[in-house]
Amino acid sequence: MDRCSFCGRPKKEVNLLIAGVDGHICDSCIEQAHSIIAEELRSVTDFDLSNVDLKKPQEIKQMLDQYVIGQDEAKKILSVAVYNHYKRLGQKVMDDDDIEIEKSNIILVGPTGTGKTLLARTIARMLKVPFTIVDATVLTEAGYVGEDIESLLTRLLQAADYDVEAAERGIVFIDEIDKIARKGDNPSITRDVSGEGVQQGLLKLLEGSVVNVPPQGGRKHPDQKMIPVNTKNILFICGGAFDGVERKISQRLNAQVVGYNASRATDKIDRTNMLQYVAPQDLKSFGLIPEIIGRLPVLTHLDPLDRDALRNILTEPKNALIKQYVKLLGMDDIELSFTPGALDEIVDVAMKYKLGARGLRGICETIMVDAMFELPSGKEKKVRIDKAYCQKHLDNFHTRA
Ligand code: ADP
Repeated sequence: MDRCSFCGRPKKEVNLLIAGVDGHICDSCIEQAHSIIAEELRSVTDFDLSNVDLKKPQEIKQMLDQYVIGQDEAKKILSVAVYNHYKRLGQKVMDDDDIEIEKSNIILVGPTGTGKTLLARTIARMLKVPFTIVDATVLTEAGYVGEDIESLLTRLLQAADYDVEAAERGIVFIDEIDKIARKGDNPSITRDVSGEGVQQGLLKLLEGSVVNVPPQGGRKHPDQKMIPVNTKNILFICGGAFDGVERKISQRLNAQVVGYNASRATDKIDRTNMLQYVAPQDLKSFGLIPEIIGRLPVLTHLDPLDRDALRNILTEPKNALIKQYVKLLGMDDIELSFTPGALDEIVDVAMKYKLGARGLRGICETIMVDAMFELPSGKEKKVRIDKAYCQKHLDNFHTRA
């Protein structure tokens, strides 16, 4: 009778018995062997740059260009930061020269829907380190309703399959960092649940310290054993819209240029895009504590998306919306196309309702739903969506908007 040559169990006691040249192995022995291998490999894979196909900053940016329209400044800064992150991970514990490369956490300031999360996701796609996106709005100080700061790292641990060493060289994108700003510039006497206390907690992570992370996150599992994670080498990228920070920026700029040469200096300011002048002190005026700002030394902005950018977003990125519809109907052997007039109409509506890039999808869905409902059962194999078709189908959208 056939038996597993490892555990000796007969064929009828196992789920699967695989035959080799001189013996057999059962499914549970395969699984056990697999975990032994995984365990062994884990202990020997210290971060080794020679194993990583390290992309240079310009290559990283080119890759971002395929998915994200515009935002050149932010792309450049992110590319350099990611590249340096790898270099830092690759440095020997004690190089001869005693120069230790410190990490430079990043803060991205830009209106919602301009591509902050998209940038982060696109970077994640090519990274060889664990990466996670977390939302700062769920955070509150320990003891209040909501998540503790430490739970930010739970997601990173999960992304690293609970490999702590891997998580310790990962990257965390913290979205909506502006939502934990202190209300008003003055420290408040009453406790500010969602503001300064959370920032103090976050500071601990950004500075680099050993943090006890609940492996399952949250408070639903009070008995879980905490996992210590050192945040020294974790790169933090923060993003936020900082609604209204433009006012702080112009106040500062106006104050600076009072006096000699004042009019000449203010003439040069591009009032349509104040965010490009954002400086650390503006974030302080907005309500971030100086210590946090100090731990986010790389500050950059995203530009608002104009008509041309929206138009490009529809058609240019690798997985642009229009390409997705063409592909969907292509699966039914239907050749779908959009006239330039149709694309202009979509952009017009997005601009009219100030929906930005985020609105494009809803607009396209409204236009396309009838077509996607009817065409797969019809005879037509070539379909052109033009401006009139869009206008006809957007009636509903206008009523809702
Ligand atoms: P943010 O994080 O800045 O609020 P997102 O990155 O979530 O905005 O953008 C929302 C959606 O809009 C994205 O999924 C993407 O489809 C589209 N989008 C926004 N900005 C861009 C851009 N610069 N290039 C391409 N698509 C964009």
